[in-house]
Amino acid sequence: MIENKQILTDAFKRKHTYLRLSLTEKCNLRCTYCMPAEGIPLLPKSHLMTADEIFGLAKIFVSLGVTKIRLTGGEPLVRKDFGDIIKRLALLPVEIAITTNGILLDKYLPLLKELNITNITVSLDSLDALKNKTITRRNYFDKVNENIELLKKQVPAVKLNIVLLKGTNDNEIIDFIKLTREENFIVRFIEFMPFDGNAWDSNKLVSKSFILDKVINYFGNRELIRLTDAPNDTSRNYKIQNFRGSFAIISSVTNPFCDTCNRIRLTADGKIKNCLFSNSETDLLTPYRLGENILSLLEKTILSKEKVRGGMDDWKKLSDPEIHSKNRSMIAIGG
Ligand code: SAM
Ligand code: SF4
Repeated sequence: MIENKQILTDAFKRKHTYLRLSLTEKCNLRCTYCMPAEGIPLLPKSHLMTADEIFGLAKIFVSLGVTKIRLTGGEPLVRKDFGDIIKRLALLPVEIAITTNGILLDKYLPLLKELNITNITVSLDSLDALKNKTITRRNYFDKVNENIELLKKQVPAVKLNIVLLKGTNDNEIIDFIKLTREENFIVRFIEFMPFDGNAWDSNKLVSKSFILDKVINYFGNRELIRLTDAPNDTSRNYKIQNFRGSFAIISSVTNPFCDTCNRIRLTADGKIKNCLFSNSETDLLTPYRLGENILSLLEKTILSKEKVRGGMDDWKKLSDPEIHSKNRSMIAIGG
């Protein structure tokens, strides 16, 4: 057995220090790019990690060198025991972050303040109520905006995630960036990625180069400042001269960032995915419940991580539904 701290290092010497932990497959939205309209078949509760199991597994990951855990889903805040889970995770020597659709944020803001958790990303795909309803198939636009206002008062910067879809919200790129003029928003444009049941179509993809062209056309090349990205950052960061906030592009499709990937994912049913795009999963929960040692399983899973996008290393493989539909919907992986 190799040294414990080496277990999360893969064959390409990438150290995995960032765990994205999915708390649930359930969600109070039905975003078109994330899941089919009819929803996904939900697993029985007994298949999902309990709060104790989440804490126990997280503790193991932290002992192996994980320094950051992002809670995601599904919608992490719909879990009834979210408060209990986050209170316990906050005891670990690790940075806690959350990605949420923002609908239930007001309920948890006092607790997040108490725990000093400020790394909170809210998904908001349009600044237009009707369009938002079309994308999310639900009507929570006002609630999410009210909660973003509350969040702004509590954290140094609010991160907004926007999945851009051609012909739907790609005409809002400039409006989103304008939000950063006065406010400390970090607006993050995400390229539409293919998963099972999300009707991915390359024609709907809004690429990094399209976004940058729009920005340069509107603000001018000299006003666009390229910021230094944090190590292992999946986003390419920019700002407009003299604007308070910044914006970023996450180009997993046209310009992947696999070389510096430090992420692993644990699904709500306790399966490890060594890459967001990989269709292979390793069940940790069953052996953990049986009291077995899971370290060698983890080691094997990390060592089998492909160099690029779960083996979809070219456009042909990525855009082939035969291949990408083998990967569970984003809602079940935890984005
Ligand atoms: N429900 C929470 C939310 O929406 O923020 C957390 C889970 S969601 C799966 C995490 C992130 O994945 C969201 O920002 C969402 O926009 C993004 N996402 C979902 N499906 C995607 C896709 N097909 N391509 C790119 N990003 C996607
Ligand atoms: Fe729910 Fe988030 Fe998926 Fe939208 S992106 S359906 S909010 S899990």
